[in-house]
Amino acid sequence: MDAGAKLAVIGGTFDPIHYGHLIAAEHARVQLGIDKVLFIPTGRPPHKTSQAVTAWEHRLRMLQLATSDNPAFGISSLEEPKGEFSYSIDTIRRLRSLNPASLIYFLMGADALLTIDTWKDYQQLITLCCFVVVTRPNYVIDRSHPVLNTLPDEWWQEMRQVEIPAMDISSTDIRSRVAAGKTIKYLLPRQVEEYIYDHDLYRGGMKS
Ligand code: ATP
Ligand code: MG
Repeated sequence: MDAGAKLAVIGGTFDPIHYGHLIAAEHARVQLGIDKVLFIPTGRPPHKTSQAVTAWEHRLRMLQLATSDNPAFGISSLEEPKGEFSYSIDTIRRLRSLNPASLIYFLMGADALLTIDTWKDYQQLITLCCFVVVTRPNYVIDRSHPVLNTLPDEWWQEMRQVEIPAMDISSTDIRSRVAAGKTIKYLLPRQVEEYIYDHDLYRGGMKS
């Protein structure tokens, strides 16, 4: 990346990727003048240990199908599973050393921010990148929230909140729709929908 380039990352299980993720990434990119958005599928997400997560290769392939038409989007394999859990702080540190001249933005939905107290070394993480929180239906960012009121004033000054067209779409809902034989058309790109059916994903009852 060029010196001073703005690099954003959005992490998630992407099980599967859907239009909520794509709209969040694209609207944040345009509103903040970001050069590149990297989607980073988590290997073994520490917060989803009790649920079976679809194989990383399937999730990666669906990400490729969904993002290939946007030259500003890319995918990073930094959290490819190697046995251990993946933590955002380690990923951001590695991204900073791989892109020392770039400004790193960490994109997430409002629901993700509300769980920040469960993230490894989050007090340090918030000093390493600029947080960008996009609106998500049913989640409100309120500074008096017991988790959020521990975050320092300077952090609130730097954090960006981006309003995006509301998309009440979740991967959980998509998985349960497939399991129940309901339509998922228009909730995610057609190629991802076809991939799900071709590989018989999410059919054998709920994986989570
Ligand atoms: P699941 O239901 O399995 O948790 P999800 O739809 O929440 O899936 P994740 O992979 O958990 O998707 O989310 C990755 C990131 O994208 C998180 O920061 C999450 O807040 C954000 N995100 C997901 N869906 C939306 C949406 N509809 N609107 C805004 N942000 C979203
Ligand atoms: Mg989620």
